[in-house]
Amino acid sequence: MVETRRESPIFDELSGNYLCLDFTHTLDNRHSDHPRELLSSYSDLIAWGQYAHVLMDAEAEQLLAVADRHPAKASAALQQVITLREALYRMFLAIVEGTVPEEGDLALLNVVLTEAMSHVCIVPGADGFVWDWVDKEKALDRILWQVTRSATDLLTSEQLHDVQACAAEDCRWLFLDTSKNHSRRWCDMKSCGNRAKARRHYVRKK
Ligand SMILES: [Zn+2]
Repeated sequence: MVETRRESPIFDELSGNYLCLDFTHTLDNRHSDHPRELLSSYSDLIAWGQYAHVLMDAEAEQLLAVADRHPAKASAALQQVITLREALYRMFLAIVEGTVPEEGDLALLNVVLTEAMSHVCIVPGADGFVWDWVDKEKALDRILWQVTRSATDLLTSEQLHDVQACAAEDCRWLFLDTSKNHSRRWCDMKSCGNRAKARRHYVRKK
């Protein structure tokens, strides 16, 4: 069945400061009683790729055309990337909370990493060479590989210590804290930060 194109969902402002963390935000209100899946179709995934600047518009068009010809493969690719997203969320949250990530999640990441690495190549760039992907024009899994690469880069970098989760218990949104004195506590001052402030104010008044 050919998927009908709909309006793309509204994605967050890439406030995670790192590709793989921003990707975990595509399940919105994760810890509430009404989580909202922003990737309900392959075209939503492609829309996120464009939004997050990992796909150029022409590349997105090409992938959507491939997806139209191979809908089963496209929905398998979507399922796989969502499964990886949930494993990554659990892994990074475990790290933030000082616990050990589940073995199964790391094993899954390693399986996807092996697959992604078999598609990696280098091509001439403006100043030397840059990483790229073999046959990326028709690779329905391409965003999966890009998110995997981002996650493994972060997991093996010093910046891993700067990964934080929003302090609101019902939010726990992941971000890389790039503030000067590592003082960022909230996903967004306008939402969770303000809610906490209002709650403190209310308690004080009582
Ligand atoms: Zn929050």
